[in-house]
Amino acid sequence: MPQSDSPGPALRTVHIPPQKYECSQCGKTERLSLCICRELAYCSIACQRHHWKTIHKPSCTGKPDVIDLVSINPLFAMLVESCHLDAAKPVHPALNHTITNSPNPSIVADTLPNGAGNARLVVLGDSIPISHAEKCSEVWWPTASSAEVRYRLQHRIVREGYLLSILTALCVGVVSEIYTATNEGAASASGFPRRAMQLKYKTSPVVDFGIIKGKVEVLDHQKLAYYLDGDVIKGQDPNDHYWLYFTTFKGEEVFLDYGASTFTFTMNVETKDYRQPILPPVNYAPAYLRGRQHTQYTLNLYEPLRRFSFLRDDVLCPLVAQCVVRPPNPSSLLAIWKIMDCLAGRECTSTEKMLANQWATYHCHALRSILGDPQRSWTKWPETPRSSFQFGPEFDSGSWPADSDTAAWRQLEKLNQRYNRGEITKAAYAIERQAWSRARRPSDRNL
Ligand SMILES: [Zn+2]
Ligand SMILES: [Zn+2]
Repeated sequence: MPQSDSPGPALRTVHIPPQKYECSQCGKTERLSLCICRELAYCSIACQRHHWKTIHKPSCTGKPDVIDLVSINPLFAMLVESCHLDAAKPVHPALNHTITNSPNPSIVADTLPNGAGNARLVVLGDSIPISHAEKCSEVWWPTASSAEVRYRLQHRIVREGYLLSILTALCVGVVSEIYTATNEGAASASGFPRRAMQLKYKTSPVVDFGIIKGKVEVLDHQKLAYYLDGDVIKGQDPNDHYWLYFTTFKGEEVFLDYGASTFTFTMNVETKDYRQPILPPVNYAPAYLRGRQHTQYTLNLYEPLRRFSFLRDDVLCPLVAQCVVRPPNPSSLLAIWKIMDCLAGRECTSTEKMLANQWATYHCHALRSILGDPQRSWTKWPETPRSSFQFGPEFDSGSWPADSDTAAWRQLEKLNQRYNRGEITKAAYAIERQAWSRARRPSDRNL
């Protein structure tokens, strides 16, 4: 149902897809057909005519442009990358200090000093210019077992922190630029004065999305911790993890995790078909889309603790859409920051909040220019961009099989069943899982 917000520099109207349909004129729930905008339904031509003339005509956006989550995932992944690579993100202490020990890959974790638990410990020494870490030079980490190992550790460290700010900014961007029709910009292809977009997953429209805070199961040696001037600084905490959820009209839930690459398992999506001057110049970006196949055939490592819907909160959704208008609407910013505090279960720092705001503006700008492209270049995005996985230098990497490759998925399902029934140990599971991965390693080792 469209919700008009207060008039501003640009009139922005949020279009929230219905979770169930009834005739917008008489309320009947049977034999319905949808309006071209897919937001309203009618039981008869008579009901549709009457409702159109009296109410719906000015707010109907015509046929929406629909983009599949799988197809837009690489774009989101690049937006996340742009935040990690942003000079505004505070420098990680492990990037402007030397590394004096040898945190080379091994499946045994270190026992942290001061009873701080177990993780891979990175001991930091003298402070150095960040350019050494940026170039992965030997000055930064002299005892790395190879240049590749050094690069991979740098890659993980660069992507630590500020996950909640990044995902909040991304959600603001999606509400503002995908679920908000505006009167500004290019006229829509349908000829209606406003343009509406929708996300879908396979055949079903997305009717809700937001952020989940929860835990992701990670082994001790996959976590990082730092030792600097007598203090232990914990790296990314798998018990304080955040990811996006998308729920479809049919009730299916898809997870999008852009934060797992700081642990040794990284899952990448190919982004070369999405290159734009406004985005970082990368061909791969970390992203894990846990969709239908993964839910059915792979182990679930995610434990959601709390969630916040950006689309279905009647009060906040229109405020979120106003967040990026200029000058910024103060009540919108406060609303966004309140969501962050709620999800985190603590008061977020002023840096986290400031970055969320700054990145939201950037994401909105990027999404508007890419999705509003009059050439509609987004229609040429691959339907299923290639995604690959990599379990760190100690393991082999490969590609996820195509959704249609049921034999490959079944193999994985059988392995998971044996593990779940307690027939094999976790170590045996890991060995067989590696063999499965190795069998589908891409021919070009591009990761
Ligand atoms: Zn009716
Ligand atoms: Zn309509």
